[in-house]
Amino acid sequence: MKFFNTYTRSEEEFHPISGNEVKMYTCGPTVYNYAHIGNFRAYIFEDILRRTLKYCGYDVVQVMNLTDVDDKTIRDSRAAGIALDIYTKKYKDSFFQDLETLRIEKAEHYPEATRHVPGMIEIIKVLLEKGYAYIGEDKSIYYSVAKFADYGKLARIDMENQRAGVRVKTDEYGKDAVADFALWKAWDENDGDVVWDSPWGRGRPGWHIECSAMSMKYLGKTFDIHTGGIDNMFPHHEDEIAQSEAANGCRFVNYWLHCEYLIVNGQKMSKSLGNFFTLRDLIAKGYSAREIRWVLLGTHYRNKLNFTLDACVQAKNMLQKFSDFFVRLHSVRNSSAAGDSAGEMVAKAKTAFTSALASDLNISEALAAVFALEHEANKLMETGKMGASGAEAVLGQFKDFDRIFAVFDVDSADTGSVPAEITALLEERTSAKKNKNYARSDEIRKQLQSMGWVIEDTPAGPRVKQAK
Ligand code: AMP
Ligand code: ZN
Repeated sequence: MKFFNTYTRSEEEFHPISGNEVKMYTCGPTVYNYAHIGNFRAYIFEDILRRTLKYCGYDVVQVMNLTDVDDKTIRDSRAAGIALDIYTKKYKDSFFQDLETLRIEKAEHYPEATRHVPGMIEIIKVLLEKGYAYIGEDKSIYYSVAKFADYGKLARIDMENQRAGVRVKTDEYGKDAVADFALWKAWDENDGDVVWDSPWGRGRPGWHIECSAMSMKYLGKTFDIHTGGIDNMFPHHEDEIAQSEAANGCRFVNYWLHCEYLIVNGQKMSKSLGNFFTLRDLIAKGYSAREIRWVLLGTHYRNKLNFTLDACVQAKNMLQKFSDFFVRLHSVRNSSAAGDSAGEMVAKAKTAFTSALASDLNISEALAAVFALEHEANKLMETGKMGASGAEAVLGQFKDFDRIFAVFDVDSADTGSVPAEITALLEERTSAKKNKNYARSDEIRKQLQSMGWVIEDTPAGPRVKQAK
């Protein structure tokens, strides 16, 4: 497998540290509000990555943190007059519901920052001892980026030039240089009752240290993959590297993968710009989670994804087309039709699909393999050459594709699950038509319709499907 490693800005062959096991850390949500679909673009990318690793035979241990203490969670919980834990619980719960709705596979661990403060304090102690951190005039603890020679390497920021002229009045910032960042924030009145004891007095952790502490606890000092949206690269990920590598004296992460933005009218979707949709907004507009998932996964993760409602409409049509295709395949599969076994085209599709995904999650090529198989299978069916075993093989391959996509629901199109009463009516209509009793056949069609089923005439004969 190959991935584009942001750290080296090049595609690299992927080798996990420990045999078949992949340890992966994903920066999770700040739980002060509902996540928007820009956030979910990042989580869907990580889901596709995780599913692809498993598809290619790896075992994955994934950690996604929940940032349940920071400036925003404190600000909004105080404004609402609700205790921080209770305030964030609502958004944690809705986040997990949204993950499930979008069929995002669960990570192995979802550590919460508020439950890991002692681990953060331990790292800060080491950084102070080693001279990478200092106590600021405001009694907060800062990381001195000038002490870490590799600072700026991930984001490719030239710190030599950055540093010139950035000295600021210490009374304004409480720190020596603007690029320095807080590891520990001394309590002030804006924090209310959100406070922990530390060897340096009461306060709370900075945001970046959360991820260093939680990744180390669950994945060790060095692990395989770290992911996030591109806006996390600087300063968040740069700071994670500086903290972890300075404290532990070893490499933090082997492969950094970042996804590009979901944009609306050329601008990043974000809460601050107010140009966002939550998953709930889109579902209320009548789009299904499958359709939204299809839109979010269809663009390569390193390209910007331009979100439009029109794309959701197209997704609806496309998935309907696939459903109809599966219905036809099921009916051939359930018949005793002799014909093509489809073995070769299925094998070709699987190979193309796998190698596309293994090549830095090349989604366009993976989709091309999917559409090619659909096209060829349709051709066989239209010409009456598809056999029952061929249809079975094609259906099996679409189920296999769905291990990554999770949108097709191949088996729900199986009319084997049509109730006996409906099948009986359909058969009665077929014989009525054969006997030229069109009044009766029309009547049955209407009756089926009123029961929520529509008749479709296919090359393999008439069949019913549930009305949408
Ligand atoms: P936040 O809750 O702001 O920390 O963001 C959670 C995740 O969503 C991070 O990985 C961000 O990089 C990512 N993210 C935020 N906005 C977008 C966007 N418009 N497109 C893609 N990813 C985003
Ligand atoms: Zn993080």
